[in-house]
Amino acid sequence: MHEEPHTPKPNFIRQIVSDDLAAGKHGIVHTRFPPEPNGYLHIGHAKSIVLNFGLAEDFGGLCNLRFDDTNPHKENQEFVAAIKEDVRWLGFGWDDRLYFASDYFSNLFDYALELIDKGLAYVCELNAEDMREYRGTLKEPGRDSPFRDRSPAENRDLFQQMRAGEFPDGSKVLRARIDMASPNINLRDPVLYRIRHGVIHHQTGAEWCLYPMYDFTHPISDAIEGVTHSLCTLEFEDHRPLYDWIVSNLSVPTQPRQIEFSRLNLEYTVTSKRKLTELVSEGHVNGWDDPRMPTLSGLRRRGYTPAAIRDFCQRIGITKSENRIEMQLLEDCIRDDLNRHAPRRLAVINPIKVVLSNYDDNACEYLPAPNHPQDPSLGERRLPFCRELWIDRADFQETANKKYKRLVSGGLVRLRNGYVIRCDEVIKDAGGEIQELHCHWYPDTLENNPDGEKVRGVIHWVSARHGEPAEIRLYDRLFNIANPGKKSGDYRSDINPDSLLTCVNAVVEPCLAAATPEQRFQFEREGYFCRDSSSEKLVFNRTVTLRDTWARNTSEET
Ligand code: ATP
Ligand code: MG
Repeated sequence: MHEEPHTPKPNFIRQIVSDDLAAGKHGIVHTRFPPEPNGYLHIGHAKSIVLNFGLAEDFGGLCNLRFDDTNPHKENQEFVAAIKEDVRWLGFGWDDRLYFASDYFSNLFDYALELIDKGLAYVCELNAEDMREYRGTLKEPGRDSPFRDRSPAENRDLFQQMRAGEFPDGSKVLRARIDMASPNINLRDPVLYRIRHGVIHHQTGAEWCLYPMYDFTHPISDAIEGVTHSLCTLEFEDHRPLYDWIVSNLSVPTQPRQIEFSRLNLEYTVTSKRKLTELVSEGHVNGWDDPRMPTLSGLRRRGYTPAAIRDFCQRIGITKSENRIEMQLLEDCIRDDLNRHAPRRLAVINPIKVVLSNYDDNACEYLPAPNHPQDPSLGERRLPFCRELWIDRADFQETANKKYKRLVSGGLVRLRNGYVIRCDEVIKDAGGEIQELHCHWYPDTLENNPDGEKVRGVIHWVSARHGEPAEIRLYDRLFNIANPGKKSGDYRSDINPDSLLTCVNAVVEPCLAAATPEQRFQFEREGYFCRDSSSEKLVFNRTVTLRDTWARNTSEET
């Protein structure tokens, strides 16, 4: 499935799995990726996907895709479909092992009854405020709920009535009966079930008015599916005693083990679903797949490849320490991939016309151009060349010092894969704006430079009679600050106002008209680009610049 074989980096979870297998604890390793369908997947999820599916792949085991769908009011089918597409796109499959936590609603209900019968769960009628009050604090133990010592028979009866819809929202909950004095607040009789009338669940419709909590659902779902290693992020570390309490007190088929690792935090972006939802709903970006979003659909539309994202996840590794990864690392991964694989093309983003005064107006020739300077297997294409060309406005200055390796008045420059030209005349409009450059064409310079004359450098170009008009979107980082919101208090105030620059007058070489959605290229001297997948018109998105311009800008400042 993967393009290039990789040697997985060792990490502590890999070690645990390999030790468990060596000790004969499990026949095979079985993991799961458990997204909640309340948003699109982001680059942080990729870390979890690559870990879970990758472990299973490397150890010949299995990985399930399981939707953790116990919060129906925030979840929907659009998110379910998008998540499936993104996991597949990253290169992973789940065969017939697609599950929903809601598949287990009746099992979960029966397990709740088992806890009740064992005297390990009770129906509590404290309101939310009192419940908080009774729970105590980190310094003080909690107090027992007045409903804690109801008999199993009474609890069973009340729980059945909750299920039958006989009580309003918030009037009753089912709680585990563990220890109100536990130093771990998660063990102070946590809520297992709450009443939710009137919500239509995307999988189970109106069947239930009673919904189980994540902490109850997750370990049981893992056990039912035979998951051996349940990998989650560090914020669940304090929940692990509850996880263990649940699987050890119930007659579940297997005893899965929870292991925590640190989440991915990435500089210059946010990876909280709440914030990503706000960016979309408040219109700061144009949807979940806006190429500036750190979502997998946004990165895909931006031109990222699955291989680059998997490579990134390998490079960052798996540990237990919280950190913030440099955006540059992600950008380097896509540069490495595209540098090796993306065909080269010529595109002029800000065109200015060049007229070759001594080139026959009726002539046209087709100049061979390799698609990749180091990889002849990518072949070549032919660039139409004629009397009128476009070059980029940034590649011409009337006067410049020696360091300027482009076209100047009276100076010579080579056209990429083409001839040498010399600028003889600058035509301006009434306002002094440059309209055209009249240039001299040097025949016989495809192979050699003209005798005794200095060629400043090489610039790109497109035939004005053959080029295709295109729109080019120059994307930059979505935030100006490495840790958005850290200083300002509101991540929104750190949004980069220049994260999108739209160039509507670009011209690209003719073969790009046939580019397919998301097809990726290097536009020589400009960066890596891909065809936008959501526009009818010819639109290219900049994936990343050729080099790390952020590092350069910062070092120039200092
Ligand atoms: P949020 O807390 O922003 O709502 P979440 O982490 O709860 O998001 P889920 O859909 O529940 O989102 O996550 C699915 C899986 O992906 C979980 O196992 C979660 O731990 C993991 N995950 C989510 N975000 C990250 C991240 N930034 N880095 C690594 N793993 C992550
Ligand atoms: Mg979650």
